Amino acid sequence: MAENRNIYVNEKDHLVIGGCDSVELVKEFGTPLYVMDEYTIRNNMRIFKNAFDEFYEGKGLVLYASKAFCTTAICRIAHQEGLGLDVVSGGELYTAKKAGFPMEKVYFHGNNKSPKELSEALDSGIGRIVVDSVHELTVLNSLCQEKGVNARISVRVKPGIEAHTHDYILTGQIDSKFGVAVENGEIFEFARMAKCFENIELVGLHCHIGSQIFELEPFEKTVQVMLKVMADLKERYGIVITELNLGGGYGVQYTEEDDYIHYAKYIKSVSDTVKKICGEYGLETPFILMEPGRAIVANAGITLYTVGPVKDIKNVRKYVAIDGGMSDNPRYALYESKYTFVLANRMSAPKDQIVTVAGKHCESGDLLGKDVPLADVKPGDILAVLDTGAYNYSMSMNYNRTGRPPVVLVKDGKARVIVKGEDYEDIVRNDIIPEDL
Ligand SMILES: *Cc1c(COP(=O)(O)O)cnc(C)c1O
Repeated sequence: MAENRNIYVNEKDHLVIGGCDSVELVKEFGTPLYVMDEYTIRNNMRIFKNAFDEFYEGKGLVLYASKAFCTTAICRIAHQEGLGLDVVSGGELYTAKKAGFPMEKVYFHGNNKSPKELSEALDSGIGRIVVDSVHELTVLNSLCQEKGVNARISVRVKPGIEAHTHDYILTGQIDSKFGVAVENGEIFEFARMAKCFENIELVGLHCHIGSQIFELEPFEKTVQVMLKVMADLKERYGIVITELNLGGGYGVQYTEEDDYIHYAKYIKSVSDTVKKICGEYGLETPFILMEPGRAIVANAGITLYTVGPVKDIKNVRKYVAIDGGMSDNPRYALYESKYTFVLANRMSAPKDQIVTVAGKHCESGDLLGKDVPLADVKPGDILAVLDTGAYNYSMSMNYNRTGRPPVVLVKDGKARVIVKGEDYEDIVRNDIIPEDL
């Protein structure tokens, strides 16, 4: 099993994560159960932060893209590790505030922030608002005037880079709902307008070219495009940009088919490119921000399920039903995402079967994996899905009135609940039967 996960197999042949026997965790907390390993989260954060310190003389800040897994506890950890935070909604902003996260290190993204969200961001003393459109710029300026405050902003740029990844999560190209384009000059129109607004200070350029990217080249190309924009803005309009935010999207190894990425090497290479190109353009090297999301939390998490019926349909398919599914992990349903599956209670059983792991929801597409290798699985086994730390809990839902599972944070053999599981009462909490019904 990949050495970048803090898991091993104990003498009982059980999967152990963060020093906790997963079978014992199931006894204590039930299934489904999200388990997050604190050591791995902190280690991933340090890899990015240390690389910046080493290769870019500390002139950078790592923002944890909280949408990957957003709870108050992870905000606290990110702060303790010296990271900033990327939020994309009023709810994520509120979570950061609740966790006592320093607001000046929070960056607010999103292609359609409401006036209420923008107002909340300004009131909280947020570090940067990453403005996505000319419309948002005018709304923000009016809000600033009303409140008598100034906003320091970045602008989301579409550098026109195609990253080799799944279409749905490709966001760098011109045909995208995010940001302003370079090709058609939108960025320059935006910057000229921002310069005219007295309450707005445009300090940064931001881009995010997609997710689950394994090649270095798209990042390098992006740096080239963005620095050219920086140079043009300075030369043509006298606008000096001091911050370059290169977004997230660093690939994660979900199965053995995925490559392992040395993130520090990426940061070194990007840092070198920035320094070199800035030299050529005669620009001061900008402060750099990066926004890893899944690279921080994906391999820190596993999800534990109890196996129910196993239907071996001869010459067709073997369905293994688990007691969760798309409500706690919608990623297969959304993108046919690949995962690694193991039997947490019988780790050494040979993976000699090909099975399809199905959830318990009323959708045929409610699968977690199709035709995946697994040992001879039986009802009552504990199935662990690895690398579920990113975009599982944060994308979970109440379909079929299913309560979200709890999240426990494990460390040194201790498990602490960081998100309570939802019970039936939580499910009906907001329901109302009108009096005249
Ligand atoms: C989604 C997103 C990220 C994080 O992406 P990962 O693939 O999880 O690293 C970072 N920045 C922005 C703007 C995003 O939309």
